[in-house]
Amino acid sequence: MPSEEKHTEAMRLIQSLKDNPLPTWLTQEYDEYLKSSLWKKIRRRILKRDAETCMRCGGPGKQVHHRDYTLDVMAGENDDLLATVCDGCHNIITFADDGEKRSMEEQDQVLLDRDTSTDHPEIKIDLRTGNRTPKEWPRMTEIQRRAWFAEVLRKTKEKREKRKKKIKGT
Ligand SMILES: [Zn+2]
Repeated sequence: MPSEEKHTEAMRLIQSLKDNPLPTWLTQEYDEYLKSSLWKKIRRRILKRDAETCMRCGGPGKQVHHRDYTLDVMAGENDDLLATVCDGCHNIITFADDGEKRSMEEQDQVLLDRDTSTDHPEIKIDLRTGNRTPKEWPRMTEIQRRAWFAEVLRKTKEKREKRKKKIKGT
């Protein structure tokens, strides 16, 4: 494009932005967007549509998951790509077992591969690893994390008592 044409093109773009300013949500950081009244309105609408039910496991859900971040979804003009999920499923959808974030395609696959048998990773405790948190940690809910700690305490106590008995016995 000759430079003169480029200049005209740029001027036209500037003029069109003056005539149609960008919606404020488009210029915000994502965190800011999540605090906006627009997102709050969209979120409420999706939770109501899905009757606060997780679209993956069927349990109670309070999170609204973005299946894509296209402008129409963000502007609230495409609710098909938004889905209510529970905390546990949201973590399973977002993170792989190794804690890495999944790609959008993979996330969608996990969401659509519904799992109604369990809505959270099984809590496995291996005392040999000490109190190191399990690899499922990033996708565990607060309740699961507390349950994990409680289970570690129980097992540690059990082990200690067994050892005491052994000492008494000999
Ligand atoms: Zn769920």
